[in-house]
Amino acid sequence: LKENNMSIIFFDICSIPLFLIILFVCFSRKMVRGSANKLFIALVFISLFSAIADLTMEIANNTVPLSDAAIVVCNIATYAYLILRNATNVVLLLFLLSLTRTTFLLKSIWAKIIFFLPYACIIIMLIQNPFTHNAFIIVAEKGYQRASLMYAFYGIAALYGLVGLAYCVYCFRYLSLNKWGALLTIYVLSHVAVVIQFFYPQLLLEMFCTALGEMIITLTIMRPEERVDSDSGMLSWTSYQSDVKNIILSGERVQIIAIQILNCREIRNFFGDHRYSQYISSIAEEIRGIQWKYPHHLNLYYEKPGYIYLIADIDETGVNDLEEKLLSQSGEHIHQYAEMGIHFEHQMCIILCPEDLKSAEDIINTGHKFNKIDNHGQTTFYAHEVIASRNFAIETHIEEILEKAIKRGHVEMYYQPIYDVKSDTFHSAEALVRIVDPDYGVISPSIFIPAAEAHGLIIPIGDAILENVFRFISENDLDDLGLSYIEINLSVAQCVEKSLPNKIYALQQKYGVDPKRVNLEITETTFENISEVTMDNVKKLIEMGYSFALDDYGTGYSNIQRVNSIPFKLIKIDKSMLDEVGTNNGRMILEHTIKMMQSIGKKLVCEGAETLESVKILKWLNCDYIQGFYFSKPIPADEFIHFLEKNKK
Ligand code: C2E
Ligand code: MG
Ligand code: MG
Repeated sequence: LKENNMSIIFFDICSIPLFLIILFVCFSRKMVRGSANKLFIALVFISLFSAIADLTMEIANNTVPLSDAAIVVCNIATYAYLILRNATNVVLLLFLLSLTRTTFLLKSIWAKIIFFLPYACIIIMLIQNPFTHNAFIIVAEKGYQRASLMYAFYGIAALYGLVGLAYCVYCFRYLSLNKWGALLTIYVLSHVAVVIQFFYPQLLLEMFCTALGEMIITLTIMRPEERVDSDSGMLSWTSYQSDVKNIILSGERVQIIAIQILNCREIRNFFGDHRYSQYISSIAEEIRGIQWKYPHHLNLYYEKPGYIYLIADIDETGVNDLEEKLLSQSGEHIHQYAEMGIHFEHQMCIILCPEDLKSAEDIINTGHKFNKIDNHGQTTFYAHEVIASRNFAIETHIEEILEKAIKRGHVEMYYQPIYDVKSDTFHSAEALVRIVDPDYGVISPSIFIPAAEAHGLIIPIGDAILENVFRFISENDLDDLGLSYIEINLSVAQCVEKSLPNKIYALQQKYGVDPKRVNLEITETTFENISEVTMDNVKKLIEMGYSFALDDYGTGYSNIQRVNSIPFKLIKIDKSMLDEVGTNNGRMILEHTIKMMQSIGKKLVCEGAETLESVKILKWLNCDYIQGFYFSKPIPADEFIHFLEKNKK
């Protein structure tokens, strides 16, 4: 081979199936969305065609003297090879920028000029080569011959390579170690190959080494499960997290738009998982519909049912376009669903980076919780207004607040008096928990109870509630205050706790409380996941002398079997039933509910009486007890005692 000056083309031949395999993997695993994926595919295509050009040129060049046809083929292939091979350097660098989300570095026109200028020089040199032959020449007797300008080509390739290598080293902080290692490998491999091929031109290693490098990238970086969510076809949650992290590190100016589908659960229940995925994909398709206006600057991510994110470089009109798209729901598939009466209800939050939030964690958090602020039917929020809201601040710090509250005793009980119609006195009260935080003030249970459940802190909070109320009963003479008992709400988590009766027994002993002084409230929703333990606990507590009330009757799936399953002393009718009393049907329902309950021996408490008018109606409907803001809001213990003393008959 050496004697003939023939090239060793086997490496080139091998590189072609490698590139084809990489492309097959990319397409079959749907790694085609998002700018990094697209650039990578472009890179592989360009590499493949340059390998083909290289091979063609070598084959045509291998039998000197060359025929006329061989000279033509050789010329075309060499030009194609040089154009494409040098383009791979440029695209690889673009891929690196895209992967680290730093493409914005090329935003200004000057940056673009500097970036593309060396490549433009190569093109100019190639254009003038047919006239000057100062880069290469192909002659019949000797075949392909390099000329002096070819060194400039190597120089420019080395320039892109070294800049890429340096940037890759610098990008250490943007990438995980394995990704960083893979990128570094492709740079090192292709440099080694260029150097070897420079000294041994017959050894066609370049394309083979490029193929190896791209293979490594496919295996380590372009894992589809990391980039693309298979159900929705959007980019995955892991990609979102790493992209957000890189945005913060690089200081890129973008908008992150968090979209929450509010009725996602209903849609899923209605459609089933498979159709739901299709539905979500069609929404994604719709959102991408605005992409043509903002090329390369719109990435769509899917976290879990109901949570979609968009990272975009769009202005206010872009946001309006997006909102219009989401509201109109006019896309082909979505339209079909809309005809079935299924609309997707959404809320979105626009986060301007880097102005609004300074850490990736805060951005991710805001995307999850922005809808926790009092929204008054708003669909679009700006992050700065979300951050300024008190409820949002509480939501984001809830775990700390709860832990601190448990440790330092910020769990306090408020009491709301309950009016007895027959005796015209306040004969009992409901204990309602509050967290009184030194920074955030009084926090309502509707905010922190669901959070306490989510963070597994509901049991210690429930313990603190029980302890507080038992202490209150022992420290005050209830008879003297005119009170028969205090009502304590039990959460579902407390009900399924095996040790609940023992805990209550211990408190009863510690504070010397008569069980008759305590009425335990459980809600209708407890029945939705009622367990043997709950029934067992209720039985034991009733044996110990405690009584029970069914809270929030009329909100869940009220049914009489449930009312009968436990010997409730009281039924508490939810405020929502009283709210309907203005309508004819509402009034009939309330009237007959009261009659029915009384006919099976239950006493009734109506919650939520805010006006004299509603108190009058409830009295007229023969309700036993009334609780509501009309008499008093829930108030701290000392105020409550003061209230009772003032209202004593
Ligand atoms: P709930 O047990 O049904 O308590 C009644 C709720 O209605 C209280 O809200 C009370 O302030 C409110 N309320 C009473 N009268 C009126 C009225 O006239 N108008 C209006 N608009 N509201 C009225 P709060 O204190 O915010 O408690 C909300 C829910 O949080 C409670 O509903 C209960 O499910 C839960 N909760 C409260 N305290 C505790 C507790 O100590 N333990 C447990 N497990 N849950 C609690
Ligand atoms: Mg209650
Ligand atoms: Mg209630």
